[in-house]
Amino acid sequence: MLVERREIRKVLVANRGEIAIRVFRACTELGIATVGIYSAEDRASLHRYKADQSFIVGEGKKPIDAYLDIEGIIDIAKKADVDAIHPGYGFLAENAQFAARLEEEGIIFIGPTSSHLEMFGDKVKAREQAILADIPVIPGSDGPVTSVEQVAAFGEQHSYPIIIKASLGGGGRGMRIVESPEEVQEAYNRAKSEAKSAFGSDEVYVEKYITNPKHIEVQILGDTYGEIVHLYERDCSIQRRHQKVVEIAPSISLTEELRHEICNAAVKLSKNVSYINAGTVEFLVADDSFYFIEVNPRIQVEHTITEMITGIDIVQSQVLIAAGETLHSEQVNIPKQQDIPLFGYAIQSRVTTEDPLNDFMPDTGKVMVYRSSGGFGVRLDTGNAYQGSVISPYYDSLLVKVSTWAPTFRDAASKMHRNLKEFRIRGIKTNIPFLENVVCHENFLSGNYNTSFIDETPELFT
Ligand code: ADP
Repeated sequence: MLVERREIRKVLVANRGEIAIRVFRACTELGIATVGIYSAEDRASLHRYKADQSFIVGEGKKPIDAYLDIEGIIDIAKKADVDAIHPGYGFLAENAQFAARLEEEGIIFIGPTSSHLEMFGDKVKAREQAILADIPVIPGSDGPVTSVEQVAAFGEQHSYPIIIKASLGGGGRGMRIVESPEEVQEAYNRAKSEAKSAFGSDEVYVEKYITNPKHIEVQILGDTYGEIVHLYERDCSIQRRHQKVVEIAPSISLTEELRHEICNAAVKLSKNVSYINAGTVEFLVADDSFYFIEVNPRIQVEHTITEMITGIDIVQSQVLIAAGETLHSEQVNIPKQQDIPLFGYAIQSRVTTEDPLNDFMPDTGKVMVYRSSGGFGVRLDTGNAYQGSVISPYYDSLLVKVSTWAPTFRDAASKMHRNLKEFRIRGIKTNIPFLENVVCHENFLSGNYNTSFIDETPELFT
């Protein structure tokens, strides 16, 4: 798709917390004015005050629904005369209807097209695209499954374990591992009802369950003229309940050859669908084989570590690409693929207000003391982390993203440990002691881990 260059002078961020602030910062550095939105519950939240202008949204709606109020957001965008909207991650970021409404209104959606969102919001359709692009996928059902018999037949053919996944799933939810034929009936029913209540559709499909894989994902940037590059990979295998906890860039355990193949596969798929803007192609890697799992057509929480190893500001690139700049223009300034720098190692830890000694129960209340870490090679991205901040139960529990960089992986890990130790947070429980255990563990440091690491390492919980 060819778009004309359109000047972006003012951007609204349809999000909250750290990612809203991250986008405001990128815009301000580009000389672009910023507009924030906040729910009634977020009236004291920091993101409200970090924008040049802020407006309350979704009054009378539930706290989450306020940020999903498409027409309310469009009204604010028009009132504030913005040129573009950045959706962040979560909320409306992957909502094709929202992107389509903005296209109708002539407001730029800083992301891919609504048809990309439709294609990749549905894991079955995404899988079809991967097959069309001829990149390896996990053995799976041919489209959605609609009966217990189909699931059982798949298990019979491919042997157990298998995994039932919600087509519209996300955030690590809507997945059920099935170990044996006896479990099929219950797992199928539960997967469908969970999918229905969490994602509004009970459509599910089945894949072979890959035992003990690594989760490797590739950062992609594409412009509106068909040019696509990758910014190397991230290893996000350190997960709890299929959700990422600590991420590393680049991976410390891929051979050069495998890294090359995986990054090329991600580019191949993206080129095949003429992907635009930032996106991530996710893979599972086991025994020198890799398999596509999904595409996240948006900025990701862990983009920070890719920025640290390449020096490329992904959020600024997103804004400029949306304005019609080419990847290699003077403004965006992305080098040609073979010249994209890769220096050192970066690690991100997601510090949350969860109690690791009580099954990661979210904690709420007032932050009485907040003294953060700092120093060379450290980056902190925070939403509401400050003394006196009130952590509400309404939104996700991410408090601060701590990212560290060093020339070697072990030094980046030791810097992470030093940073985590340096934090002083009182009045609210955090997962910091747990994160410290992770980044000091010898299996983490030697790359001897996979997606089961947290589940299979009880000493992390002490
Ligand atoms: P979500 O969109 O909810 O994040 P993904 O499809 O990206 O779901 O999967 C999240 C995680 O779930 C993966 O990183 C992996 O740990 C696990 N997973 C998903 N599919 C499989 C599979 N077929 N085999 C093994 N693990 C899987």
